[in-house]
Amino acid sequence: MTGVNILLVDDNAENLMALDALLASPDHNVIQARSGEAALRWLLEDDFAVILLDVRMPNMDGFETAMLIRGRERSQYTPIIFLTGYESNTVNLFKGYSLGAVDYLVKPVVPEVLRAKVAVFVELFRKNQDLQYQLERIRELKDDVREHERINEERQQLLAREQAARAEAEKAVQERDMFLSVAAHELKTPVTSLRGFAQTILRQMNRDTPLDPERVRHAFITIDQRSTRLAQLVSQLLDMSRIEAGQLQLDKAPTLITDLVSNIINMVQPGTDKHTFVINATDSFSIQVDPLRLEQVITNLIDNAVKYSPDGGPVYVDVWLEGNEWACIAVTDCGIGIPVEHRDHIFDRFYRAHTGNNVSGIGLGLYVSKQIVLLHHGTLEVDFPSDRGSRFIIRLPMNPDEQE
Ligand code: ADP
Repeated sequence: MTGVNILLVDDNAENLMALDALLASPDHNVIQARSGEAALRWLLEDDFAVILLDVRMPNMDGFETAMLIRGRERSQYTPIIFLTGYESNTVNLFKGYSLGAVDYLVKPVVPEVLRAKVAVFVELFRKNQDLQYQLERIRELKDDVREHERINEERQQLLAREQAARAEAEKAVQERDMFLSVAAHELKTPVTSLRGFAQTILRQMNRDTPLDPERVRHAFITIDQRSTRLAQLVSQLLDMSRIEAGQLQLDKAPTLITDLVSNIINMVQPGTDKHTFVINATDSFSIQVDPLRLEQVITNLIDNAVKYSPDGGPVYVDVWLEGNEWACIAVTDCGIGIPVEHRDHIFDRFYRAHTGNNVSGIGLGLYVSKQIVLLHHGTLEVDFPSDRGSRFIIRLPMNPDEQE
């Protein structure tokens, strides 16, 4: 039932009809109940602005009915006006109030008084309904605001994430552009030199000029060095793309580290007359590694030691065991070292701490080396024992299976 309801409870049908007639109005519904039980049934189904309750009824009287009405949650605050006969005494009136009556009307009721009293409760009920509606609206608005705030926060987070992703992408593009120009330069230098030597020799041959064997030997040494450098650059690039694709495979075999180091030094030594190589192997041992890949790492460290100590000097290669767990190889030079602000980044892809026309490199050697060592479950770290030079330390597990 919609609208405002008024409940009339009286065992006398005539009384009910009379009250109904007095209260009839399009503004509210008047419901009649012939007993306390019937009233309670109505109260289960609906809310009422006011209950007009006859005190004297057979079976369940008005007081008992009021007590049960108050006992239920839905109707505990519904106003009750008792209708009493003129014979009601003060004791009965008090009993009624104590059971939750808000008022009394003595029968026969005065129509104006009845209508006026009922009108107050109808008005009160309407106001209460309005209030409930407003409260509900406020609750909804609060929910809306909260939802708005949540969406806003999510949007901010998305925006921040998007900005971070964009910054990262821009950084990657910058890195790539920078790398491409460095790589192009690095690749072009040996190619230009190879072409130069080839063209010179060809010109002399075309002119039938006798070739000076010493100059030809010198040219071939340079061609050999430049093409080796070229091959190195290309394989670093290939290694990087394999690493990035997770496709760098190891081909492990038992390897005697001291032999590996000696062979590398025998290969590197002829390339420089300013540097001396000192191997200091306190332990001789064999471990399970990919010998070609480990050779690549150590060669890279030694090449760097030579490259970044342009005045020459000793390059130390130490080999030792840490406990029975770690095989260690360190390459130490007395060169230009690495400025503090660059030290955290030298293992990053394309990172170069020293850039200048006379320093070649594409910033991939240490990155690739570190990834190879990591694949062996080892570590590659750098240390700066004094203010000159650098010391790169490889640590490889003696029992790599335990690390798998
Ligand atoms: P690059 O091909 O440029 O040498 P690497 O990845 O091998 O690239 O090294 C990264 C950077 O770390 C180098 O550009 C250089 O600035 C610095 N670096 C590496 N090894 C040494 C070293 N032994 N002494 C000083 N600086 C070094």
